[in-house]
Amino acid sequence: MAERAQHVEAGTHPRKDFSLLIGGDLVRGEGRLEVINPATGEVFAEAPAAGRAELDRAVRAAREAFGTWRGTTYAQRAELVRAFSQELRERQNELAELLTREQGKPLSQSIAEIDRGAAQSDGMVTIEIPVEVLIDDDQRRIELKYRPLGVVGIITPWNAPVNLALGPLVSALYTGNTVVLKPSPYTPLTTLKLGEIAREIFPAGVVNVLAGGDELGRWITEHEGIDKISFTGSVATGKKVAAAAAATLKRVTLELGGNDPAIILDDVDPKAIAKKVFFASFVNSGQVCMAIKRIYAHEKVYDALCEALVEEARNAKVGNGLEPDTQLGPIQNKMQYEKVRDILEDTKRSGARILCGGEVPEGPGYFIPPTLVTDIDEGSRLVREEQFGPIVPILKFSDVEDAIRRANDTRYGLSGSIWTNDLERGKALAERLEVGTAWVNQHRATSAFVPFGGAKESGLGRQYSIVGLKGYMEPEVISVAK
Ligand code: NAD
Repeated sequence: MAERAQHVEAGTHPRKDFSLLIGGDLVRGEGRLEVINPATGEVFAEAPAAGRAELDRAVRAAREAFGTWRGTTYAQRAELVRAFSQELRERQNELAELLTREQGKPLSQSIAEIDRGAAQSDGMVTIEIPVEVLIDDDQRRIELKYRPLGVVGIITPWNAPVNLALGPLVSALYTGNTVVLKPSPYTPLTTLKLGEIAREIFPAGVVNVLAGGDELGRWITEHEGIDKISFTGSVATGKKVAAAAAATLKRVTLELGGNDPAIILDDVDPKAIAKKVFFASFVNSGQVCMAIKRIYAHEKVYDALCEALVEEARNAKVGNGLEPDTQLGPIQNKMQYEKVRDILEDTKRSGARILCGGEVPEGPGYFIPPTLVTDIDEGSRLVREEQFGPIVPILKFSDVEDAIRRANDTRYGLSGSIWTNDLERGKALAERLEVGTAWVNQHRATSAFVPFGGAKESGLGRQYSIVGLKGYMEPEVISVAK
């Protein structure tokens, strides 16, 4: 990781108050990760990185703790989760500032991420997972029960490190599993702090947190002492995770990338929806799995929509997330910054029309202004790939059947939306999107009580709700002859 570092932030020493959590102990770690503030491009902190021996110790600790933890009740585990989320709220400001420094998003959005994570955690532990009676007659009683799987390895990406850790962490713990959690090497810090908080609340070994590079993720997926992987990240890595997990038939939940379409029908007022559509596309500078990544607009509203979205883009304040009026922060890391710039260059070369943005400022920091593109070929990289950045194509249609076909013409299938004043028509069209979640007149609405996940190559299994929780459990039939 050292090669990612360029300069240490002027006049400061990198913060080093971070530790791994293994078996209830705060541990220094075999290696180091330099953490860059994407708003400045400079190293501002150093995190410990775990080696194989530390992974082995964490897995041993988690297995040992599982023996007792699995015997606790849902109510007991719920109480500890609530104490944990309460502590997150109490330390929200400190955590949010750290999150903004390592991730780049505006401070208000870091606060919202922690808030949402805490609320979803509290929500999930109210869900009951009852024993189901399948048959009860003169001859037999057959019950379907759910029991914990064992040790869950949780691997997360860099775009929403707190929220994407809390969903699987709370699901695994509440259902009676113990955990080894690994954040992205780009954003390890807030997750390590979550570990410190968890240490004060959960018994030793129930939660273990290891920062490290991609190789640590690979070791986790290959480890024989781990029973399930909950992975959030790119499609390409998700396929590697599934392949590695197959060797020991680990259970997997895969929350992967998306290329979400939004279809804007001819009966909407473009001005009335522009703000919602803009921020559903550009929040976190487009670095959201379920952001709108392709906008299909009916020809009747196309010009007015383009105009209204350009207006939103021009008004959006791009900058360092620590500045109070910033709405859009930088791209989180150099690799992604280069990738989005490549897509932008490819888009320009193809002859598409850049409506706004499109010029990348000189550094420091990995900033790209919100960029809207029209007159673009359906086969271009910007339309086919997940751009995961602040550059979004607006495509025209005249026949809604054609729009649905083009929206579905992809291997991605995370989510999508229909925008219309006719709710019945909107719902009927939403049902035809080949996705895990289809919204009408909204995008990016999730809840602890609603399953979220991808169709096609956008994932496997679901997170949240009773559907998600059962993914952390093994169904077991108990059949008694009378
Ligand atoms: P990534 O796949 O590069 O990395 C994700 C995590 O996997 C990191 O912790 C990384 O260290 C680890 N990793 C890398 N190689 C590994 C391997 N061979 N085995 C196991 N772990 C490995 O993804 P990213 O660039 O960090 O995140 C962006 C992607 O995540 C986007 O595609 C985005 O859409 C997706 N995402 C999906 C959801 C969802 O809920 N569906 C949510 C957020 C982000």
